[in-house]
Amino acid sequence: MKQKGILIVVSGFAGTGKSTVVKMLAEKYSEQYALSISMTTREPRKYETHGVEYFFSTKEEFERTIAEDGFIEHACYIGNYYGTPRKYVEEQLEAGKDVLLEIEIQGALQVKEKLPDTMLVFVMPPSAEILFNRLKGRGTETDDVIRKRMLRAVEESQGIEQYDYILVNDDLDVCVEGLHQMIQSEKLRASRNIPFIENMRKELVDLKKGEV
Ligand code: ADP
Ligand code: 5GP
Repeated sequence: MKQKGILIVVSGFAGTGKSTVVKMLAEKYSEQYALSISMTTREPRKYETHGVEYFFSTKEEFERTIAEDGFIEHACYIGNYYGTPRKYVEEQLEAGKDVLLEIEIQGALQVKEKLPDTMLVFVMPPSAEILFNRLKGRGTETDDVIRKRMLRAVEESQGIEQYDYILVNDDLDVCVEGLHQMIQSEKLRASRNIPFIENMRKELVDLKKGEV
């Protein structure tokens, strides 16, 4: 029987580079990972396509999905709803894929509470100044939204200790590979490999019996 995949949450301040990192990871190791696509009520950016970066929805559609229990988690971030559709995540985990959720902190903590086996990673910028420059350099938000997102970063920074790991996004390729290696180690935790351990015990006992 195929082993179930693990659920990995990646969070970080706006502009850290987390979308870039998870997208590259999912592309580089496409056999291993599935990247969940969230639903949001925020307006699409110029380069974004419905069904690729997000499922863009109305408030009504989003609220209907909440009522139908269609999300694993959902949250409000600076005036817009964001949520993780349940069906895709459950199907991919069942198929043995490691599923990546790129979501903010309130959602991350909801997932950890419902599914305590979830691995939580907080991606950090090398410095606050670099964060600001990346956010501004992306050129997708007005100065007012940038200001709100930086203020939100101050609040989010209070919750980082609730994550299992931090990862610094300085050199992009190093960060992507670092995340992959962290996940590989996480998958080797003894507590995540009980069937394998139990089978080894059984094989050892059988072998010993055969010798006597
Ligand atoms: P987030 O999803 O965390 O809001 P993005 O992935 O949109 O951030 O990245 C913000 C900006 O920073 C983008 O313009 C992206 O190309 C750039 N970026 C991401 N990672 C790095 C990096 N390691 N070094 C320099 N620029 C980066
Ligand atoms: P952005 O508008 O920059 O794409 O995303 C804003 C914030 O919402 C980011 O912190 C991003 O990680 C988070 N986010 C994206 N999708 C989801 C989701 O499905 N659930 C939650 N809780 N946050 C999300």
